[in-house]
Amino acid sequence: MVKAANFRGTTPGPPSGARILVVGGGYVGMYTALRLQRKLKQELAQGEVEIVVVAPDPYMTYQPFLPEAAAGSISPRHVVVPLRRVLDKCKIVIGEAKAVDHAKRKATVATLATLEEGTGPVEITYDELVLAPGSISRTLPIPGLADYAIGFKTVEEAIGLRNHVIEQMDIASSTRDPAIRDAALTFVFVGGGYAGVEALAELEDMARYAARYYHNIKPEDLKFILVEASNRILPEVGEAMGKYAIRELRSRNIDVRLETRLDSCEDRVAVLSDGTRFRTRTVVWTAGVKPAPLLAATDLPLNERGRIVCTAQLTVAGVDHAWAAGDAAAVPDVTAEPGKECAPNAQHAVRQTKVLAENITASLRGGPLKEYAHKYVGSVASLGLHKGVAHIYGRKLKGYPAWLMHRVYHLSRVPTFNRKARVLAEWTLSGLFKREIVSLGSLEHPRAEFELAAGGKRPGHGPDRAPHHGPQRGPEPGFPPGPKPGPKPDPEPRSDGDPQSGSRGN
Ligand SMILES: Cc1cc2nc3c(=O)[nH]c(=O)nc-3n(C[C@H](O)[C@H](O)[C@H](O)COP(=O)(O)OP(=O)(O)OC[C@H]3O[C@@H](n4cnc5c(N)ncnc54)[C@H](O)[C@@H]3O)c2cc1C
Repeated sequence: MVKAANFRGTTPGPPSGARILVVGGGYVGMYTALRLQRKLKQELAQGEVEIVVVAPDPYMTYQPFLPEAAAGSISPRHVVVPLRRVLDKCKIVIGEAKAVDHAKRKATVATLATLEEGTGPVEITYDELVLAPGSISRTLPIPGLADYAIGFKTVEEAIGLRNHVIEQMDIASSTRDPAIRDAALTFVFVGGGYAGVEALAELEDMARYAARYYHNIKPEDLKFILVEASNRILPEVGEAMGKYAIRELRSRNIDVRLETRLDSCEDRVAVLSDGTRFRTRTVVWTAGVKPAPLLAATDLPLNERGRIVCTAQLTVAGVDHAWAAGDAAAVPDVTAEPGKECAPNAQHAVRQTKVLAENITASLRGGPLKEYAHKYVGSVASLGLHKGVAHIYGRKLKGYPAWLMHRVYHLSRVPTFNRKARVLAEWTLSGLFKREIVSLGSLEHPRAEFELAAGGKRPGHGPDRAPHHGPQRGPEPGFPPGPKPGPKPDPEPRSDGDPQSGSRGN
């Protein structure tokens, strides 16, 4: 077995055994490392194996809870799982893998320390590689999109969007300009997969509830628009339930536009392919995902959609000592007709980690490898408080029972007992008390007040910006979160399916 070399500064001492490098701290990265640390307990204790996890954030995000975090039903801290606590037998490196040279068994990683030191990325050598960097939003070169829109994949985006929506209501409530009011109260969501539909439905529910606390905003003043390029939404729950979801959303006065695309969103005007124009300060882009850009900087085989070509045993095809799973991996779906890949969703990602950890353990111990086989069982989606839709194990549910099933299912799935207890407590409390409708957008500019007191200008704001307590807080286009350190979006769209459809199916 190749002896793993050490890398500068980030972990103490050279390992005496095999180093397993896990790139990514999401579903696949966290669960694989967790299962490995249990299975290889003895080897870890004896120093025969070392598990190193490289992730840009010190937490795993439970993405299915992001819409509820945006609605304020779950606090942001409970949507994430701290990697250091859960993976206490692993070494966690907070950083971003920039490239992987698998032939040389080496990953190039930029860490917070290397950025601070200005020394350039470090090299981490390994014996076994688990590549799990997931996916990023699949964008298009639509005028205005990069400047004005926001995605919905991270906890920062979800909370930023919540603050933004409430802030728009504050703007609308205090302006005398009808154009500004109209733009502030119009919210455009592009992509009708579960991320887009759940985000829209939860935020709409929250905003219409919040309207009762504004003396001059009525719920019917709010305009929510869902733009979907295909002729259906929520393909994950099947056709009948997708149609039900459209009826439900339309009954709430949400403008669902099928077979329609966003053509541009410049200067606070969203232009759709059917010719409609909306003044808006809010465009949420959830029109599908594409594999993380890191994959293009590896010497591993990629398919035409940029996913890593894998075998059903979750090894990278034609390569030794490399494994992959989740959104980044093209894993053959052995339960479907030949040529089909597992869709990029949590259902596959979590189940794949079980086989992945077993196979890595087996390969280290010289045992046989297993195949990953899981037949998609359907999906559940929340359409706001007490509303939902589900098609699971052949059973169709809608309304309150589906919403309840959504909650029970995700409570059973969210990692760690600690998180389950906290989420359950929050749901219980929010059933007893009124909904939270506060916007804490100023949290994103914690130094602003002090800078003003010290005679400086608010960062990124014009001289005429209102003071901290004023109504116009927040960056001009309307979205508080700036670019996050971590994987940068690929500006070139890939032609993998309809780019404005929110469907994640393959
Ligand atoms: C709003 C929303 C709701 C969803 N709801 C559902 C649902 O109800 N049911 C369902 O089945 N699926 C759902 N999904 C999809 C599901 O969350 C994903 O399929 C799943 O997270 C994929 O797991 P993954 O580990 O491949 O990627 P992720 O969980 O995204 O993890 C990837 C990790 O890799 C890190 N990373 C990226 N690049 C690098 C790099 N260069 N170096 C180091 N680390 C890197 C990322 O920061 C991240 O931590 C939802 C997704 C979203 C956005």
